[in-house]
Amino acid sequence: MSPADVQHRLMLVGGAWVDAAAGGRIEAVDPTSEELIATIPAAGAADVEAAVDAAHAAAPGWRDLGWARRGALLRELARRIDAEAEWLAHLDVRDAGLPLSGARADVTGAVAEIGYYAGLAPEARGSTAPPAPDTLSYTVREPYGVVARIVPFNHPFKFAAGKVAAPLATGNTVVLKPGEQSSLSALELARIAADVLPPGVLNVITGTGAAAGAALVAHPGVHRIAFTGSVPSGRAVLHGAAEGIKHVTLELGGKNPIIVFPDVDVDRAAAAAIAGMNIARCTGQSCGSTSRLYVHADIAGRFQDALVEQLARLRVGDPMGEDTQVGPLAFRAHHDRVLGYLDTARREGATIAYGGGRPAGRPRGFFVEPTLLTGLDDTMTVVREEIFGPVMSLLTWRDVDDVVRRANDTPLGLTANVWTRDVSAAHRTAAALEAGYVYVNGTGRRPTGTPFGGWKSSGLGKENSLEELVSYTREKTVTVTLW
Ligand code: NAD
Repeated sequence: MSPADVQHRLMLVGGAWVDAAAGGRIEAVDPTSEELIATIPAAGAADVEAAVDAAHAAAPGWRDLGWARRGALLRELARRIDAEAEWLAHLDVRDAGLPLSGARADVTGAVAEIGYYAGLAPEARGSTAPPAPDTLSYTVREPYGVVARIVPFNHPFKFAAGKVAAPLATGNTVVLKPGEQSSLSALELARIAADVLPPGVLNVITGTGAAAGAALVAHPGVHRIAFTGSVPSGRAVLHGAAEGIKHVTLELGGKNPIIVFPDVDVDRAAAAAIAGMNIARCTGQSCGSTSRLYVHADIAGRFQDALVEQLARLRVGDPMGEDTQVGPLAFRAHHDRVLGYLDTARREGATIAYGGGRPAGRPRGFFVEPTLLTGLDDTMTVVREEIFGPVMSLLTWRDVDDVVRRANDTPLGLTANVWTRDVSAAHRTAAALEAGYVYVNGTGRRPTGTPFGGWKSSGLGKENSLEELVSYTREKTVTVTLW
């Protein structure tokens, strides 16, 4: 690609396309070719100020439009996104390395999420207090005004478009900041939204977490912050929000166990474990990845064979290929980090049962083979820390109480998984697991409207459900004295 082909993108603030006031730029690199494909503005405090001002100016009008008209505009936004779905998916393939099939599913998912919240909006309703002879008390749910929506790099369009739906549907205006490593499709969302939504209702700024993200969190005009990202950044967001006592929800990382009982169909459970890793959806860069596999010792040998056989069948390659299942990791620093974890695993005595390095025939790009680690114990770094890549750790168990204790022995608690034909064992284990979402006999398949959110250090609050919608409103109680 020649330098002339590199596009210099702008941000959407108050309906206008703007550059960062200080002029800084961030490079967007295609993780497959390692070529520079675009640059994006590196927003700072002045740009955040402008975006929050624009969102404030638009807030009363958007609120007063009412849920039905807002819903109609959001449905129109979803329709226009759907009409450009193929282009948007291609952009995420180039910018983030998602396989085309996964990128298409992300756009479809975002369209569905916008439609879901557009329809659910009137359910953000108040209530009446117990009857009293001389008073009438009721509550109303009102929007916060301006919502800061900060999202990570791994599902660029899905998170950008899907996660602004609930705050917009409830009458808030939004300042969205996508992950700086994959912001291009969020800027395309801005382009599409600019033709549908009034100016200032959705503002999209790009930049680093340390500059743009932190300034957005600290801005006194923002009282509601919804953050999706890593635990350390979530912690920084909480600190940044403390001064202004802001309502913060956090969707953070996971180190999610899957407990496999000896009565399962081994091939099917192994397939579910790999599917739960989301290796074939986003190269294992998934908060819900089933990265800690606890398999009953009686079937562990067969299970390992099934995993290796199925991992070997995954088609790794150019993510733009229709048949490709596994693309590169999204950016170089992350690629190096995942390889660093594999070095640590070797150093600490783990066995690489499959994969472990760069796939054959891929001299360029941020590729890492789907990898299975064995010979592990619970104290090893790769068993304790989120790797956020295509790396599975296989451990064994014999006593169910003990394996539940081991599964829970982590500061994280996003998801957990149980595989067994024994319905009592399934329910008892699900009840004992410390996680915000437990899958029984089906990894990662979440029906629309099921609340999703982590326990312990994996987060605060719930998304993908009525709980998320309501969280973008604040309740006001009104008591009328009757005389
Ligand atoms: P990250 O925390 O580095 O960045 C996420 C976003 O936060 C980016 O937009 C970044 O610029 C911004 N940011 C970083 N520091 C900030 C700060 N101090 N103040 C404000 N904003 C800041 O995460 P990442 O590497 O982009 O994403 C991977 C992480 O996200 C993993 O830990 C993964 O598990 C988690 N994740 C969680 C969910 C979930 O639903 N629970 C979903 C996807 C990803």
